[in-house]
Amino acid sequence: MIKNFIIKFQSQTDTSQMQSLSLFIQNINTNWQTICNLPDLLEFAELIQYKQDQLMKNKFEQIYDDQNFSFKNEIANEINDKIRSNPVKNLTFFNKIQDEKNEDLRIRFSQIEQDIQDKLLAFKQDKQIQKKIYLKYLKQLSQRINSSLKDSEVIVFEEIKNIEREYQNKRGFKSLDDFILGISKDPDQLAQFKENEGEIKAAFNKLWGDITRESEQKQSEILQEYSTKQYQCISSSFNEYKLNTQNEQLYITSFLENINNNSPFRQDFDERMQIYNIFEKELKSQVQFRPIFNTKETMRYGEVFLQNLEDRMKRPNTKYDVMDIKNYYQFQIKVYYVEKKTLDDYIKKDKKDKKEGLIIDLIKILERSENNQNQPKGKQKQQQADQYLYQCLDVNSFGQQYESVNSQFQQYENVNPHIQQQFNVNTQNQQYMNVNTQVQKLLLLLDIFKIKYDSKLRIDLVETIQDPQWWKIWSSYNKQVINAFEKFQESFKEFKKQKQPLMDFTNDTFIKNIKEYNKGLELKTGQYIFSALKELEEFIQNFEHIIIYRDMTIIPNSSRYKQLESSLKYIQRKESSFQEIFRLNFINWFQTAMFEENQKLQQNENCQQNGFSKFQQINSWQMMYFSIYDAIKSEMTKAHQENDKKDNSDSEEISQQNTSLIKIIMSKIEQEIINYNKSFANFGIILSGIGERCIYYYSMLIIWRFTCYKKGKGVQESIQKFESLKENQLQKFIADIKQNKTEQSKLKAEAFICNFYKSYIQYFYRDNQTTFGTEIKNKNKMTSTELIKLLDKTILEDYQKDNQLKKYSDEQIVQYITDQTQFIENYVKNEVDKIEVEIKDLFENRLRKNLNSILEKINANVQQLRSHTDIQNPPIKSKEYFVNNENDNSNDEFYESKLFDLIISCLLGGQQKMSKFQIQKEYEEIFSIDSYQKIEVNIFDKSKFQESELQIQLLQPFATELSKQLNIHIQKAKNESLSLEKFNSYQELQTIKLNMIGCRHTCPMCKRKCDQSYSNDHKHKCSNGHQLRGMNGVLIENTPSLFTCDEMDDECLIETLETKVRKKWKDIRKIYDDWIFKGLDETDQQTIKEKMMKVWNQGTGQMICQQLKTLLKKDIKFVLKNNFQDVIRQPKIHYIFMLDDSGSMRGKRWEYAKSGCLGCMLEIQKNLNARVSVIIFNSYARTVINCESVNLVEMEKKIQLSGGGTDFGRAFQETFNLIIQHQNEAFEKTEILFYTDGEAAYPQQIKQFKELPEHQKARIFLHCSSEESNATTLQMIVNELNACLIKSELKQKFQVTELQKTWAEIVSREYHNLKG
Ligand SMILES: [Zn+2]
Ligand SMILES: [Zn+2]
Repeated sequence: MIKNFIIKFQSQTDTSQMQSLSLFIQNINTNWQTICNLPDLLEFAELIQYKQDQLMKNKFEQIYDDQNFSFKNEIANEINDKIRSNPVKNLTFFNKIQDEKNEDLRIRFSQIEQDIQDKLLAFKQDKQIQKKIYLKYLKQLSQRINSSLKDSEVIVFEEIKNIEREYQNKRGFKSLDDFILGISKDPDQLAQFKENEGEIKAAFNKLWGDITRESEQKQSEILQEYSTKQYQCISSSFNEYKLNTQNEQLYITSFLENINNNSPFRQDFDERMQIYNIFEKELKSQVQFRPIFNTKETMRYGEVFLQNLEDRMKRPNTKYDVMDIKNYYQFQIKVYYVEKKTLDDYIKKDKKDKKEGLIIDLIKILERSENNQNQPKGKQKQQQADQYLYQCLDVNSFGQQYESVNSQFQQYENVNPHIQQQFNVNTQNQQYMNVNTQVQKLLLLLDIFKIKYDSKLRIDLVETIQDPQWWKIWSSYNKQVINAFEKFQESFKEFKKQKQPLMDFTNDTFIKNIKEYNKGLELKTGQYIFSALKELEEFIQNFEHIIIYRDMTIIPNSSRYKQLESSLKYIQRKESSFQEIFRLNFINWFQTAMFEENQKLQQNENCQQNGFSKFQQINSWQMMYFSIYDAIKSEMTKAHQENDKKDNSDSEEISQQNTSLIKIIMSKIEQEIINYNKSFANFGIILSGIGERCIYYYSMLIIWRFTCYKKGKGVQESIQKFESLKENQLQKFIADIKQNKTEQSKLKAEAFICNFYKSYIQYFYRDNQTTFGTEIKNKNKMTSTELIKLLDKTILEDYQKDNQLKKYSDEQIVQYITDQTQFIENYVKNEVDKIEVEIKDLFENRLRKNLNSILEKINANVQQLRSHTDIQNPPIKSKEYFVNNENDNSNDEFYESKLFDLIISCLLGGQQKMSKFQIQKEYEEIFSIDSYQKIEVNIFDKSKFQESELQIQLLQPFATELSKQLNIHIQKAKNESLSLEKFNSYQELQTIKLNMIGCRHTCPMCKRKCDQSYSNDHKHKCSNGHQLRGMNGVLIENTPSLFTCDEMDDECLIETLETKVRKKWKDIRKIYDDWIFKGLDETDQQTIKEKMMKVWNQGTGQMICQQLKTLLKKDIKFVLKNNFQDVIRQPKIHYIFMLDDSGSMRGKRWEYAKSGCLGCMLEIQKNLNARVSVIIFNSYARTVINCESVNLVEMEKKIQLSGGGTDFGRAFQETFNLIIQHQNEAFEKTEILFYTDGEAAYPQQIKQFKELPEHQKARIFLHCSSEESNATTLQMIVNELNACLIKSELKQKFQVTELQKTWAEIVSREYHNLKG
């Protein structure tokens, strides 16, 4: 490693790298631990890079957090202060303020950026951080600063636009005042209006219409401007996903014109199609896919592709399978079958017919044997030599050893006549044994077709064949055999049609046997093609004749996809000769085909769910893009909790866009893309970089679309609010024209209180921006690492068996384990909602309290005022309060304004600066400022009032109305609600969410969620530990796997969850190199291990076993997880050996078999809980070892050959007896290891095994090995047992020399399986 490091950096001139080596050596101790725990990072340099990156990351976050961004919360306040303090108010001025503020922000942010850069640089130099890493964080910094600046600019923009709108509205209202001023100068017109209220209203409506039009015009201008700004803002957060497209402008315009302003919740209209149509050109013009080749980054998809085609086709469809691989292939089946009548004729036909039939085939066997017997001596000798050879040698080495054995035989013949004689007897015996074997094979057909017969007669037949007393003369032997056969034949029942088994285990064993021995049986074949496996299965089930063998192959659906045949062959078999064609043609074709597919027909259920049913046709692209749309929509909207669901179409609230929300959505989309890629990987392709970017860019457009709609909805609301002012304005208009002073005064009092109330609320928002920000920041404490730690504790560690003490139901716990991302997402949503409610309550109460207190104070002042005015009768005119100079020619309005100023000062307890105007002595008391309470908050802003509103015509009705309005508003304040969105920091809730959810990737081995924070370039890690693989249903036989990813051995064989491919752990880790499976710190590692052990052992484990039991409908055994890795679990296994010692085994073959058996025991011996039985069989069977611990010396003596015929039945009877005898000894497994060199009849004893109880059957495993190349009987046994759920396997054409290796392998495989 160190050498690599030095070689790597010798070529570079950067000396800091060498320095970092010396630094590394200084810290060798701490680093050494890291090296030990990180075998994944083989490169030394990579290791250093990782550590430095971690270091820099932490520092970066810390510096960034230390920066004070709270000035963002003051933006609105500052703008308002500036505008208030300036007497001149017009659009140019507002624009100037906006520009100034933006410039100010730019400077501020760039200062912050500079500041952070300096600190990072200092840190880099101090810690010798590589330049590459440093630059990476500089880039991140500039992106963050930039998007924060863009955010702030939107705040400025919105605030300025609010002010502008208010200004605009006020200007509109001024036209009402101007109109009144105009007609009041024309007494005739005034008189005419006064008489006719209808005319007043008409005039008002005309003016109002103009005002509204102008206001709406302005609103929509602002909206357009806002949308464009938002687009820039959002796309700046999307920099890393930016798609290069020439159509950007087109998309913006299309969305602005056709999409953004419509409600996305309309029932009658589905905008997904419209958006798709806008975006489709991107999918048509850019290359969307790339092939999976063996690069590091595509390896995990390669896993999917490398599965054989049948497995890929078998996987159940999900919504991600927008292209279904099943459509591209067909099932071709070749069937060998017999017609029922043919079969019945064949087994019943009597010998007079002489042409075909079972008996004719029997006669042929006898004739052949007779011919052999009568062969000339030389040939016969040769035959005998063959027999002898077959007897003592393994068939494989036949070629080489033939010569030597042949000469050996010559020697026997010439040198030792005694031995030769002996040999002749043996070979004669062998001859008749062969007849027996052939007859058994001939009769196997009865068992294959399950034809019933009298088994006693069958035994008679066998005995006749093997009876030495008939052997002397062939003709009488034949006669005896045929007689016995005919008797047996009479007992045959007619063939009864059975259901065809769905699975076909037989390979071609049966057909070969029938073809070879039952030559007279007429076989037929047929070939059929099906598009779906289900059709094929149905066809087989309903096939009218008796199927003996079927041969299924998958072939490309070339009738539909002629031009794709080569590509499809490549996808099926990955032959490199087709690879080039695949690469050139397929992607292009696939991309186009996705437009042509009609998913609506194929995915009917899905269509219903997603509301696709209203479309005529849905292609695969639409399927995918619609689903992405839905994912974003559900993230952007939150269902309204409140009851006002009258118009269900629009009641959903839309989240405010911000960087965190975008990140949340992007991390979700990232997972979606991974899932789509896993589906495309079936075809050997995945989305290209551009393909992914298209999805991201499309997602961005959707986010933008919702954001704009939200704003548009806000505009709608403000138009409604504007409309609600109409009535008040009309009343005022009428009163002003009629010069009804009492009415005027009342309306002015109402306007004053309303205005004040509104201003106070606005002030409250501005005043609390900072406090709100702090409050949110205080809540933002939990990272996803901490959250998982907490949940592990409350959900897993504190598991309660008692239902009443349970905080989480078992179902919830299982969800936490099996679908952690979803669980955490829901949990966090809930938590954040809670925080939101808390904060809302807090500030809403504060608002109500403050409102109440300030209104009460004013009310007290009003009561003070009323104590003077209430006694006035009639009310005193405004002018009369003042001492009038002789030459004063100011009109009434002048004094009405003065009075207003004066009274407001009194009511708000402000300073009185009215020295210029003397107040009549008798009224001085009313205006004595000291008798009024002071109101601390100065929010009265004259510029928010119309000129005409700043007057008091008559003080008495004004005061009375004030009092009435105050009471109304005091009541209103009690229920005043707060809109959190008006606080800039409100969007930080999304940040809390993002931080708590963190990264969404899950461990490919145990499904545990990565607990690091969300970012694009981190290595995934479960720093709270991985979970036991068994928790997610990974079973080893019937015990959950007790290992976690962080403690697995490099050499362990692991099956991945999705593809079920078995690989060494170290190789899997290479594929998932974006994961760090082990912790960096040894003590942490130990703590985590103990934690997971505790979790498993104290309740959760047992609960999960219970759940798995119900889910999988099989017996699951709970086993404690052990602390010490070196104490390996010793599973209780019973091994039963079944050894053939018939005559044909004599010689070397027996030696091999025996040593194979003993060698295997050597392996078994390692497991102290294992027991061994040995059954040796020929025509009879004997149990020589009965369930004992291995003792090689003793056992060697007991395994001895005795010779004889071959019968499986008695052997299986012994095995069955052993199982019954030891059934109460709690063996986890019974492994039966069976070996024979020949054939025998099908044993009826197998039936007993089928009748064992289910749980017992599930623990029996039968491994048969036979020298026969066509071991039909064993094949039938294996089929029968598999069908009744006893796992069985058969190796044919097996060589005895292989026995030790094969059996030892079985033993060690099962043993290690149970271990891991
Ligand atoms: Zn894991
Ligand atoms: Zn991660």
